[in-house]
Amino acid sequence: MKTDEKCEVCGKPATRFLFAAFVCDSEDCVQTARERRGGPGGHQKQKLFSKLSVEK
Ligand SMILES: [Zn+2]
Repeated sequence: MKTDEKCEVCGKPATRFLFAAFVCDSEDCVQTARERRGGPGGHQKQKLFSKLSVEK
């Protein structure tokens, strides 16, 4: 994948789009992007909780 975007973690040219963020080949950057997004399913859980509190 070639892109003009920059890695959101270190600022190098990004090579892929993961966890709603552009990242480079570095594993550290991939990990950081994953943690920023809240881990697997993190966003969905948060959404579910806010929906439940509205229905109460
Ligand atoms: Zn990077």
